[in-house]
Amino acid sequence: MQFTQIYGQTSLKESLRKMAEGKQIPHAMIWLGEDGTGNLPLALAFATFLHCSSPVHGDSCGRCDACGKHARLMHPDMHLSFPVIGKSGEGGGALSTSYLAEFRQALTANPYTSFADWLQLMEAGNKQASISRAECYDLMGRLSLTAYSGSWKILLMWMPEFLGQAGNVLLKMLEEPPPGTLFFLIATRTDHILPTIVSRAQVLRVPPIESEEIARALVELHHLDEGEARAQAPLAEGSLIKMRQLMEVDDGVGLGDTLFMEMMRLSYSGKVAPLMAWLDQVSELGREGQKKILLVGLDLLRGCLLEMHGARALRPVVASQQAFISGFSRFLNIPKINRIHKQLQEALLHLERNAHARLLFHNLVNRLHETLRPELHQ
Ligand SMILES: [Zn+2]
Repeated sequence: MQFTQIYGQTSLKESLRKMAEGKQIPHAMIWLGEDGTGNLPLALAFATFLHCSSPVHGDSCGRCDACGKHARLMHPDMHLSFPVIGKSGEGGGALSTSYLAEFRQALTANPYTSFADWLQLMEAGNKQASISRAECYDLMGRLSLTAYSGSWKILLMWMPEFLGQAGNVLLKMLEEPPPGTLFFLIATRTDHILPTIVSRAQVLRVPPIESEEIARALVELHHLDEGEARAQAPLAEGSLIKMRQLMEVDDGVGLGDTLFMEMMRLSYSGKVAPLMAWLDQVSELGREGQKKILLVGLDLLRGCLLEMHGARALRPVVASQQAFISGFSRFLNIPKINRIHKQLQEALLHLERNAHARLLFHNLVNRLHETLRPELHQ
């Protein structure tokens, strides 16, 4: 991965270059950014830059032996750790190495891989992913060895939020790292990481990607024309993952639309029996199908907002979607839209973090009911 392959983040790339040139690299860094901002690819590019034997113009060369190994995520001094589910026989001591081939495959195909994509690739189903205590001991063993290339040894840990108490095992090493060792922790939230880890690391904030760069990605990756790309870019809110999800939402009416429209009707009416039937149906869907309900919902909600401003959706909508937007908008105002948007976003986040789907949707409908019918909850 090279800096030039990463969308936006210009000033951050510059800071990283200066950090490397000044040889003042903190031994532990938390690369903190929302999903899809590029915190993971940036850390990969920085690691490549540090190992590259002949960097040019402030970037790795992309041609040397080290760059070649990094491109395949196979550099011997780059240790990868990430949440995994236990394979049968491993019990609570699942190791990242059991899924290393899958991880390399996912990231080389798309460095902006989401956690939900990763769970699906491991076929996690309803199993919980974690970074286990056994994994931490394994990493300590590996990092205590001499660097193969005589350069930095780098531990890149994706989602240290999944360490839980197992992270205590790493504290001593974070405090007194073996010589030439760097810890790159790629995270979205610091409040889900042990405070003792956070306090030993320097936090590097990765901001949302600039809108112009999202527009460039829409042109290059999704083949939109420039005008359309500029109009759509703000909807991605600075995240390439969100951008891809928006592009994946069906243009036609799919099951996601039907189930979302039904959910809003149920949230308004508060009727229990049809809600139970709806929850049964949603529980049967896989995680991706459940996510789609919420993504479609966010898209339709934007349609409502535009409708209320007298504008029609930027994306083409079909008749049944338009009928829903026109009808539903009559029950909304701006504060309600904001609240529903927030509730859908939160549900999406929890779903991606493997929440129990039936419980999650049940709670969501209750909260939506409070938002839509505040007069019944006073
Ligand atoms: Zn190189």
